[in-house]
Amino acid sequence: MHKILILGPQGSGKGTQANILADKLGIPALSMGQLLREVKSGGSELGKTIGGIIDRGELVPDETALEVLKQRLDQEDAKDGYILDGYPRNAAQNETYKTFDQPTAMLIITVPREESVNRILERAKVEQRVDDTPEAINRRLDIYEGETKPIIDSYRDSGVVHDIDGIGTIEEISENINNALGL
Ligand code: AMP
Repeated sequence: MHKILILGPQGSGKGTQANILADKLGIPALSMGQLLREVKSGGSELGKTIGGIIDRGELVPDETALEVLKQRLDQEDAKDGYILDGYPRNAAQNETYKTFDQPTAMLIITVPREESVNRILERAKVEQRVDDTPEAINRRLDIYEGETKPIIDSYRDSGVVHDIDGIGTIEEISENINNALGL
């Protein structure tokens, strides 16, 4: 069974690659950011509370992310495996994750910070995400560097981590991922 975590800075193309891989493996691609944006747009009290946090580019409380994730993982289509984009992002989330699951692989899509910022600003022209301002982008990249990278490093000894160069065409990067996973 595949339980693949896909991580990388914003703008690395990890969402695109998660979807391609999900289609190939016949398992769902889950995006933590997307799941939380759905809660935000649902208009509930919780949605209102986390809306501002998301717009500023900060992490929503760990318990909220966990609850939303668990509800999604409990759905039938995730029973045979999943690709998860954007979780865990800090040490506390990683400790919790380890209590209920173990990744079979961790794909780290690497792109230099400057390239990452440029790509998000390009995306912002079409998608109009409220958190695609320079301030929020930099905050999200700081969190990635400071909090997410250390947890990735903690998995390196277990041999599940695959670093994938995020510079190249969508097809090239997808092929590198397939090779890394032996698919
Ligand atoms: P993303 O689409 O991955 O850039 O995520 C968008 C936003 O959703 C982030 O800036 C956070 O506000 C929130 N978010 C996504 N994943 C998490 C997580 N694992 N923990 C807390 N907040 C998250």
